[in-house]
Amino acid sequence: MLSVEEALERLLDGLTSTEADEIPVADALGRVPAGGPILAAHDVPPFANSAMDGFALRAADGQTPRRLVGESRAGGSTAPTVEPGGAVRIMTGAPMPAGADSVVPLEEAAEDGGTVQVRRTPQLHAHVRDAGHDVRAGTAVPLATEPITPSVIGLLAAMGYAGLSVRRRPGVAILSTGDELVPAGVPLGPGQIHDANGPALAAAVVEAGGEAVLLRAAPDDAAEIERRVREGLASADMLVVSGGVSVGQHDHVRGVIERLGALDFWRIAVQPGKPLAFGRVEGRPVIGLPGNPVSALVTFELFVRPMLRRMLGLVGDGRTRVTARVEEALAKDPARRAYLRVRVCAAADGHHAVSAGGQASSQLLPLASANALLIVPEGMAVTQPGESYQAILLGSLQ
Ligand code: AMP
Ligand code: MG
Repeated sequence: MLSVEEALERLLDGLTSTEADEIPVADALGRVPAGGPILAAHDVPPFANSAMDGFALRAADGQTPRRLVGESRAGGSTAPTVEPGGAVRIMTGAPMPAGADSVVPLEEAAEDGGTVQVRRTPQLHAHVRDAGHDVRAGTAVPLATEPITPSVIGLLAAMGYAGLSVRRRPGVAILSTGDELVPAGVPLGPGQIHDANGPALAAAVVEAGGEAVLLRAAPDDAAEIERRVREGLASADMLVVSGGVSVGQHDHVRGVIERLGALDFWRIAVQPGKPLAFGRVEGRPVIGLPGNPVSALVTFELFVRPMLRRMLGLVGDGRTRVTARVEEALAKDPARRAYLRVRVCAAADGHHAVSAGGQASSQLLPLASANALLIVPEGMAVTQPGESYQAILLGSLQ
């Protein structure tokens, strides 16, 4: 059996980034920047302005009363020059009038009949935001290789950029296989179950930054699976199949990959999981995941998510890890590394993990209510109450 690390290394080997796409900055949330640093073409803010509502004046006039000579509003450009002894009423974000070098906030001044009296001696440059105090013209702003956040969108917009170069989302075709599968919404006949993996894996693709193409589920029929695999690869960078990868009589996925391209079939020392079919068809990765829904989703998390992130130019799995203490004895296969479904909470004495329910790979409800996968190493048959283990956070702490 391959270790998780060995399998991942082989899956990532030779994967290249998708090409760059030019998109509107306003649509860039969650996308990954493809270009280098962004050049600031102008100062942000573009002109010196007031940080407060108040009076723009000359600090050197000290505490002498000022004559109010006009107003500077946000968006305005015609405030009069402030001569010695003068003041201009000014709003937050309004341009500093010529001649003024300080702003006295409204709260620290009194105005009466066109005369402004300050309560204390103004400081030179107080409450003045210089041109470029956020970003100076000519600065090369490095954008982290991270999914774009609202604040980066705000920064780019403030710098005047309407468009941005990002990595194209890798397209992933999703194929469920199994004679027993019918889509949700269709009443079940004898022996049938609803296809959970199709919608779940498509969502996992989107969560990882990819674009999912959900194919119609295929029966356990080699010719049908082959047709769907071809169809999927015609419109995607990668194909993820679930079910039919083991060694059962009606497991055809490996045979199909072998016929259409080249197959690697591995057993991975992972629980849930184990059998994983990996191959390339016309240069595109095809990954066959086990059919049990928890196995499919956990192996996607461990192996396919990092592949998609690599194609986006991102490093690692993008998940936070914490060390969490367990008070239960949770059994596992000593031959494999387990990823147990748990709920982690943060307490004053550190993180604690409790089992989210049954740990069978067919039990989706516990995974759906878990916020973390607890990693229990190879060699152990049970978690030791009171011991701490690493956990991969899938959601927020409870
Ligand atoms: P398989 O890997 O095809 O042997 O399937 C293993 C188990 O997972 C069986 O109980 C299947 O019914 C179940 N299974 C396979 N595919 C899906 C799916 N798309 N949705 C829900 N359960 C599935
Ligand atoms: Mg099957």
